[in-house]
Amino acid sequence: MSRDIRITLPDGSVRTLPAGSTARALAESIGKRLAQDAVAAKVNGEIWDLSRPISQDAVVEILTPKATDALSVLRHSSAHVLATAVRYLFPEAGIGFGPAIEDGFYYDFEVPRPFTPEDLERIEARMHEVAQADHPFVREEVGREDARRRFKDDPLKLERLEELGDDEVISVYTVGPFVDLCRGPHVPSTGHIKHFKLLHAAGAYWRGDSRRQMLQRIYGTAYFTKDELAADLRRREEAEKRDHRMLGKQLDLFSIQEDVGPGLILWHPRGAIIQFELRRLIEDEILKRGYQLVYTPHVTREQLFFRSGHLPLYEHNQYPAMAAGAGEAEDVRYRTKPMNCPMHILIYASRQRSYRDLPIRLAEVANVYRNELSGTLHGMLRVRGLTMDDAHIFCREDQIEQEIFEMLDLTDFVLNKTFGLQYRLDLATRPAKKLGGDQMWDVAEAALKRALERGNLTYGLDVGGGAFYGPKIDVKLRDAIGREWQGTTIQLDYELPERFRLEYTGRDNRAHRPVMMHRAIYGTLERFVGMLIEHFAGAFPVWLSPEQVRVLPIAEAQIPGARAVHERLRAAGIRSSVDDRNETLNYRIRDGEVMKVPYMTVVGQRELDQGSVAVRVRGAGKKQEIVPVEQFMARVKSEIEMRALTP
Ligand SMILES: [Zn+2]
Ligand SMILES: [Zn+2]
Repeated sequence: MSRDIRITLPDGSVRTLPAGSTARALAESIGKRLAQDAVAAKVNGEIWDLSRPISQDAVVEILTPKATDALSVLRHSSAHVLATAVRYLFPEAGIGFGPAIEDGFYYDFEVPRPFTPEDLERIEARMHEVAQADHPFVREEVGREDARRRFKDDPLKLERLEELGDDEVISVYTVGPFVDLCRGPHVPSTGHIKHFKLLHAAGAYWRGDSRRQMLQRIYGTAYFTKDELAADLRRREEAEKRDHRMLGKQLDLFSIQEDVGPGLILWHPRGAIIQFELRRLIEDEILKRGYQLVYTPHVTREQLFFRSGHLPLYEHNQYPAMAAGAGEAEDVRYRTKPMNCPMHILIYASRQRSYRDLPIRLAEVANVYRNELSGTLHGMLRVRGLTMDDAHIFCREDQIEQEIFEMLDLTDFVLNKTFGLQYRLDLATRPAKKLGGDQMWDVAEAALKRALERGNLTYGLDVGGGAFYGPKIDVKLRDAIGREWQGTTIQLDYELPERFRLEYTGRDNRAHRPVMMHRAIYGTLERFVGMLIEHFAGAFPVWLSPEQVRVLPIAEAQIPGARAVHERLRAAGIRSSVDDRNETLNYRIRDGEVMKVPYMTVVGQRELDQGSVAVRVRGAGKKQEIVPVEQFMARVKSEIEMRALTP
C-alpha cells in the first residue's frame, strides 16, 4: 500500500508525493527545466543522488549547477570517471580513494610505475569517451559479504570496508564497467561531466602513512561550464609562475633541507629580513595599541598541556615527549609546545588581577611545533615549525565588543592598509555541542556582531561553525590573482579560563572569571610570507624588499664612486648593495631584474661629476631618470617609512 510523504521545499511550500519517490520525480513535478538542470538533491541537509528514493517526510532542495554544493558532487563523480578510464587502460591498477577536494579532485592508484605525462593524456582522452557514453551512476546498498566478494581483487578497498562500522550502510556505485565502494553522492550520469582537465600526478602514501605503500595520485579539476574551466586553468598557470617554492629559491629567501627535516624552514638572509620587517610592523603597532610583549620557552613540562586539555586529545599533532631535564624526577616529561596559550595564561595568573587591570593583552611572536603528516607539508604554506604572531587578550565580558572592534581595526590596518590585501569576514556561531549555557553565547555573539557592525564591516554568517568553546571571526584573504587564503582568526575562549581557574576581582570585590581571546594577525609568518611571495610574485614593495637599491658602476673607473653612493644609502638605513663584478652592464641589470630589486642606480662618470644617479625602477623597462643622490635617497626613505606599496 503506498503512503504519501510531505516534501518541504526551500521556499517553505509543501508537496505531497508517494513514499519512495525520488528527488528527480520531485524536480519533474516542479518543472521540466528544473528536472533537466538538476544534478543532485539536498535531503534534510544531506546531499543525495537524484535517483535515491525518499521514504519519509523531508526538507528537499534540488541542486542545479548554480548551487555551491553541486560542484563537489560533479568533481567526485569526475574522480570516478578518472578511475573508470584508468581501469580500461591499466586493468591491474589497484584503487584507493578518490574524493573531491577544494579545487578539484584526485584518485589514488596502486600501479607498478608512476604515470607519465603521456599516460595522463591517454587517460584524459579515455575519460572523454566515458563521459560521452553517458553511463548512469548506479547506487546499490549491499551487505558486507557481497561487498567483500565484489572487491576481492582490490585490497585497498577491502581494508576500507573492514573499517566500516556494523551500523553503517555500505553503498557501491557502478559506472559502466567500474564499481567503487563509495558513499556518493553523484551526478545522474557521466554525460554531466564535460569540462574537466587532468593536472598532474604525484606519489602519495596510502592513507598518508609513510610506512604504507606509495600510490600514484592523479589530480584533476572539473566545472559545469567551459568558461569556468578555462579561467581556472589560466589562474593555475599564473599561480605556477608565482609558486613561492620556485621564487624562494630564485630570490634566495629560504630553504628546506633533508638534514634538518621536512616542514622546517631555514630563513636565508634575504628571507629573514622580510620576517624581521613583519615582526617590526606588528610589534610596533601593537605596542601603540596597548599590548604587552612576553617571551616564553619552546619546551615545557607536558603536564601543562594535560592541564590545558590539549593532551591527550591532540597528541597526534604534537611531537613525542622528551625525558626529564638533568636532576628531575625520572617520570617527568617535556614537550615542544604546539601553542602558546597556556604559558600566557600562567603569566596572567601569576598575580592578582583586578577589574581595573583588564583588558590585559599579551603578545609574542613565538615558535611552536606541530607534528603534521609529512604528506601534507607544502613549502612555507604548511610547516612543522611555525612562527606565530600570537596574542591573548583577557578581558571582562563587557569589554568583548571593544576588544573585537580593536582587533578588527588592527587586522584591517595590517592586511588592507599595509599590504593592500582584500578580505572577507565570517562570523562562526555556536555549534550544537558546546560549552556553557545559551545566555553566555548570546552575550558573546551579540558583542561580536556589534563590533562588526560598528566597524561597518560586511560579514557572512557561518551558523554552527564556531568551536565548542566559543564563537570566532574568520578572515579570508584574496590575493592578486583572486585566490582565497585562510587568514587571521579571532577566537573567543570560555574553556581555558575555566580549566586554569583564572580570576579577577570585580568592582563588587568578588572573584570573576575573565573571557579569553586568541588571535594571530599574520597567522604564521611562514604561511604569510609564502602567501606574500605569491601575491607579489616576488616583487615586494620597497620596504619589504631584501635588497632595496642596487648600485651599478658603468665601468671600473666608477667603482669607488659607486661604493660611496652605496655607503651613503646604507648609512641612511636603506638596504643597498653594489654590483661591481667584472660583467657587462646589461648582464648586471638583467641579474638585478631576476632578483626583482625595486631600484637600480647606474653610476657613470657624468653622474658622479653631477652628484646624481641614473635610476631604473623595477617594472619600468629601460626608462632611466637622472636624479640627484640626495633626492633619490629622500624618495626611497619616505617610501620605506610609509610602507608604500611601490614601486
Ligand atoms: Zn566515490
Ligand atoms: Zn591561543
